[in-house]
Amino acid sequence: MEYTLDWLMKNDGFACDCGKRHSGLLKDCIIGENALTGLPEMVRKYGGTHPFVLCDRETFIAAGEKVCALLKEAGIGYTLHIINRTKPAPDERIVGEAVMFCDAGCDTVIAVGGGVINDTGKILAAARKCPDIYVSPAPSMDGFASASSSMEREGLKVSLNSKCPDAVIGDADILAAAPVHMIRSGIGDMAAKYVSLVEWQIAALLLGEYYCPTVAEIVKRSLAVCVENGTAAVAGDKTAVCRLTEGLVMSGLAMNYAGISRPASGMEHYISHILDMRALEFGTPADLHGIQCGIATLITVEAYEKLAEITPDREKALAYVSRFSMENWEKDLRTLLGHGAEAMIAGEKKEGKYDPARHTLRLEKILQNWDGILQITAALPSAAELYRFFVSIGHPASGTEIGLTAADMKNAFLAAANIRDKYVLGRLLWDLGIPEEMADILTY
Ligand SMILES: [Zn+2]
Ligand SMILES: [Zn+2]
Repeated sequence: MEYTLDWLMKNDGFACDCGKRHSGLLKDCIIGENALTGLPEMVRKYGGTHPFVLCDRETFIAAGEKVCALLKEAGIGYTLHIINRTKPAPDERIVGEAVMFCDAGCDTVIAVGGGVINDTGKILAAARKCPDIYVSPAPSMDGFASASSSMEREGLKVSLNSKCPDAVIGDADILAAAPVHMIRSGIGDMAAKYVSLVEWQIAALLLGEYYCPTVAEIVKRSLAVCVENGTAAVAGDKTAVCRLTEGLVMSGLAMNYAGISRPASGMEHYISHILDMRALEFGTPADLHGIQCGIATLITVEAYEKLAEITPDREKALAYVSRFSMENWEKDLRTLLGHGAEAMIAGEKKEGKYDPARHTLRLEKILQNWDGILQITAALPSAAELYRFFVSIGHPASGTEIGLTAADMKNAFLAAANIRDKYVLGRLLWDLGIPEEMADILTY
């Protein structure tokens, strides 16, 4: 089956062998030369008469100005709001700001920006129950077409159900003119799929989680599209940048298909979330979402490679868990994250992942399925191969390249498993009694 973007967008969806009926949610997507000129028609198609245009300072210059000119030319009145601060966080403030500046007469949201603006636009459109059109200024991440928003609520990274944009527009000239670091970020966010796909399968094997091979295949294809076009996209080739953008949209659609974030994010995204939370709390260095995810993918892939060399040891795992102190765990998390730790501590109280009795059950499952786990992780590229690819496209390949210390990265690696209730590498390592042992031998 050739999973093209057009096929994925079929609105009626299809009944899948996994038992679900998958539909993509995204109704329109124009990526290519002069795509932006289709915006006024798109606004009218969705019944818009007075859109609310949301940008930040950079994206206004990159694409927002052109958006406003096109609306004006077409005789469509609009309300423009530019978020006037550097690197706005995806938090309560930006959502409140968007709500407060969106006039009562606005009947469509046009979000022009990266992840933060897009995620905010989705929340606003969901709350106002109005259409949402997303204009991409750069192929910097894969959340364009997903139906959720990655936000920071009370300092904790959360994924909120919002809405999938009705339409995504990617104009070749604008995308190709994007800063190269942003294009690399899109590729880094896609590289994360090597890990997320493997972890999704491991969770299905160990915990019986829902898994769909068709969705996994779609993500694999979109990853391949992004990797194939990576070098040319970074060089500014318009066709390659458009193909990369299509791959990013496809990945978001795959998440909609599955109804969960499993196909697109795992341990590597959680490492990146920890870095974001620390940046928010303590002002430590942070980079673009996709760049952080790319670096974290490299670390995670190396860890899986090293995991394949060990023999799981029941006694060692049980001894580790019996020594594990919840009190110290809470203390360490508070030191690392400040007040962002509280939601994770509360989450553990509800979830009980560190409960010894539950650990014993999981450990037995792991020991019984060890060969199966290794068969799954064999699909990962080697860390050396991924490193070479990153270097070839100029993507940072270590935390130190983005201003973080090896200790920052190691701590993020150790804390990542606590972000959500998903079973990812950090939890497997804890179940085996070797998180610190593994963290000590990785390259940061
Ligand atoms: Zn399926
Ligand atoms: Zn991502």
